Amino acid sequence: MSGTPGDTIAALASGAGRAGVAVIRVSGAAVPAIAEALIGRLPSPRQAHLCGFVDTQGVAIDRGVALYFPAPASFTGEHVLELQGHGSPVLVDMLLARLLELGVRLAEPGEFSRRAFLNDKLSLDQAEAIADAIDAGSQQAATAAMRSLEGVFSREVNDLCDALVDLRIYTEAAIDFPDEDDVDFLGDGQIERRLNGIRQRVDALTAQAREGAGLREGLRLVILGQPNVGKSSLLNRLARRDTAIVTAIAGTTRDVLHEQLAIDGLPLSLVDTAGLRETDDPIEAEGVRRAKAELERADRVLLVIDDSVGLGASERALLAEIDGRCPVTIISNKIDLSGSSPAQTIADGHDAIRLSATTGAGFDKLAAHLKEAAGLGQESTPAFVARRRHLDALNRAQMALNTGHERLVIDAAGDLLAEELRLAHAALGEITGAYSSDDLLGAIFSSFCIGK
Ligand code: GDP
Ligand code: ZN
Repeated sequence: MSGTPGDTIAALASGAGRAGVAVIRVSGAAVPAIAEALIGRLPSPRQAHLCGFVDTQGVAIDRGVALYFPAPASFTGEHVLELQGHGSPVLVDMLLARLLELGVRLAEPGEFSRRAFLNDKLSLDQAEAIADAIDAGSQQAATAAMRSLEGVFSREVNDLCDALVDLRIYTEAAIDFPDEDDVDFLGDGQIERRLNGIRQRVDALTAQAREGAGLREGLRLVILGQPNVGKSSLLNRLARRDTAIVTAIAGTTRDVLHEQLAIDGLPLSLVDTAGLRETDDPIEAEGVRRAKAELERADRVLLVIDDSVGLGASERALLAEIDGRCPVTIISNKIDLSGSSPAQTIADGHDAIRLSATTGAGFDKLAAHLKEAAGLGQESTPAFVARRRHLDALNRAQMALNTGHERLVIDAAGDLLAEELRLAHAALGEITGAYSSDDLLGAIFSSFCIGK
């Protein structure tokens, strides 16, 4: 992003085009001088002033309401002037030209929010929630974004960071003063209890964030299962197209197939895989490797089985490999052959749907289940909106905590645990922006609209 952080920026904050009212927002140190030149005085803070906005000769360009918010009690934390004029594109252009004449620069997308973040008026996830509220595609998404904006997500992340800092201090003390007064800090179970408490809270937050991300980005689903159980048929029925190759020969889907679709406004990204079975065929082995890579990024696994056969050893091995890292829905397919009725049930502690990819029976239940999983169910609105980068940060925090736990209980290595705690803390800090890079900020704020 160009320009000095200290310069004064302006942009149309309301929608472009003809409208009743247009709002131009100006932010920066030069606001008092600009107000003097443009409206002849600096309005009293936070009070509406009806006045003319005048050109160099003192002739009114437009007449409207001026509002002044002195720093730091403004959206950006800087001096802010809001001009509410007539919603005419021509008048707006004239007014912006006049502001440029007064030394103001046009704001880049998201630059007001970026300044608000840099001036500690918002955490990074709150700033993102502004964009998410504006882009919300459903009432639930809008409500969840407002909760994020109110700080529901950042507060929980900050509480977790506090708990991590306390544990880091305690662990470092245990390293520095081993067996002080014959007390074995590392071995007394305190650290492990507290660590496990934090791990549970990260798990719970991840589950909420996954729902919140589902609202915004939809679900990324990976279809797994033995050859010939009907993975490609399931994908095809969902997509209603013949993208994947369906044949009766085991192992036809050698590569990974992606499909984008939507059910009732819920975006779905589906990946059909070759399955995860061990194989000597190098082409199929490559498919298995890619399937495993897809698994790392999935929101949910659809594990397809044949309803007449049920869960077998290979499915149980697969579930063990997934090991709770990703929620699983078991799709018990081919009920037209087994004679079962379409149903939503539980199998081995996982959600399960009985359906037929051939007849389409049970697909209404699958659709309802996926909407529920994405936070679009009738009852639930997620606690906050979240993005993939938040989930990624939570996952990295959880991995560091899991490794730290191993270092503690297996190796009794306090210094290695301390390092993992530091990594977990840094990962969580990325969510609120306590740790951030220019690249990250650029990527986030450039996707905002101008004037936000
Ligand atoms: P994949 O290897 O898991 O992708 O399985 P496919 O989708 O290629 O299907 C394998 C075979 O099972 C094909 O002949 C399909 O027509 C058949 N099949 C898939 N789903 C069903 C179903 O619900 N009922 C019946 N009767 N056959 C199915
Ligand atoms: Zn297939």
